[in-house]
Amino acid sequence: MPLTRWLAEYAWLPDRAEPTRDVLIEATDGRLTAVTPLTVDGPPTAGVEVLGDAVRLPGLTVPGLANAHSHAFHRALRGRTHDGRGDFWSWRSLMYAIATRLDPDTYLALARAVYAEMALAGITCVGEFHYLHHGPGGTPYDDPNAMSAALVEAAAHAGVRLTLLDTAYLTGGVDGAPLTGPQRRFGDGDALRWAARVDAFRPADEHVRLGAAIHSVRAVPAEQLATVAGWADRNGLPLHVHLSEQPAENDACRAVHGCTPTRLLADHGVLGPHTTAVHATHPTAADVALLGDSRTRVCVCPTTERDLADGVGPVRRMADAGSPLSLGSDSHAVVDLFEEARALEMDERLRTRRRGHFTPVELLTAATVGGHAALGWGDAGRLAVGQRADLVTVRLDSARTAGVPPVGAFFAATAADVTSVVVDGRPVVDGGRHLTVDVPTELRDSIAAVTAKEDS
Ligand SMILES: [Zn+2]
Repeated sequence: MPLTRWLAEYAWLPDRAEPTRDVLIEATDGRLTAVTPLTVDGPPTAGVEVLGDAVRLPGLTVPGLANAHSHAFHRALRGRTHDGRGDFWSWRSLMYAIATRLDPDTYLALARAVYAEMALAGITCVGEFHYLHHGPGGTPYDDPNAMSAALVEAAAHAGVRLTLLDTAYLTGGVDGAPLTGPQRRFGDGDALRWAARVDAFRPADEHVRLGAAIHSVRAVPAEQLATVAGWADRNGLPLHVHLSEQPAENDACRAVHGCTPTRLLADHGVLGPHTTAVHATHPTAADVALLGDSRTRVCVCPTTERDLADGVGPVRRMADAGSPLSLGSDSHAVVDLFEEARALEMDERLRTRRRGHFTPVELLTAATVGGHAALGWGDAGRLAVGQRADLVTVRLDSARTAGVPPVGAFFAATAADVTSVVVDGRPVVDGGRHLTVDVPTELRDSIAAVTAKEDS
């Protein structure tokens, strides 16, 4: 790939409290080779005038956003779950109804559209927490990793990188109840058979990496947690786990194991710097210390947690205790990492009735380098030489962002303000349009294909 040059009106460089004006960004073979501020106090230097071949990026350019927690098929539920009352568990029944309709072809179409929606929102890398492994009734497909392969292909079509977090989902409750109904499609029997299936899946594509996931303490028996954690550790791959999203999970864990889910994970070697706890909405003070002391990462999914009435976790305390933060759009009730990022601050304000918990740089870090690190891409998320050439440009002249100082973008911009997205040096979104996918049409059609009976 030849040298490409961009001239960002503003770019948010590492270790800067606010964006820098007039930054020349150069890349070759998908890697940043130079990041050069052209203006030092005052008007642009003469150099700006002669950069005829540089692609102009008006507005604010930030590193690629990482969506550290996704269940692609949940996108089909958006707007369908708001009748009447209900709770997390009634929402889950609707989610299972969609899961029963998916096969590798319909999932490819749906995930391609969902990942393209993410690209439009400036997401250059997604962590797919994937547990819909098998065919109806739990019968494996001819290729037992056919659903994984569909997700890998979907990300390639959408132009985003993927960490496929292959999820062990073995039981229907903390008490070890067997999987029933739609859940049977999730199960591999036991952790060793889960590992054998995942070992057989080794996609060679540049845009994908593997990771492991423990669905939750509800879905993997205590004595098998170490098998999954050990597999991730041996292979040097990230490990993710849903943790304490609901008080009911804590209660069930205490009843069966006499401890919190966090304590159970700690006792079975699951926590550590390569592990990401997703949600961590209802941890005890001791849990916060266990997570922080082990440098376990925490992925917060504020728009989903609000949609599902989960509650607000002690996010500032977890960060202070030592847990690096990342963000996920999870159920995709909303796909907008700007909204997820500012929710860190806004939710903390609601909880404490005080302002000023997270700096703009902390929000940017959670949305970029924090997410990439959680997904095993240590070479992405910063505008620095050697990093992957991921550039996300946000316009500062929309009705939402006009008059907003660049440093305030995370408090004002939405996904709709993203105009240009470059992934690994390749343009994916330009002028606010995905270059290869008609996103609204493909979302409409792929969702209709799996919800038709639901709506009739
Ligand atoms: Zn989730």
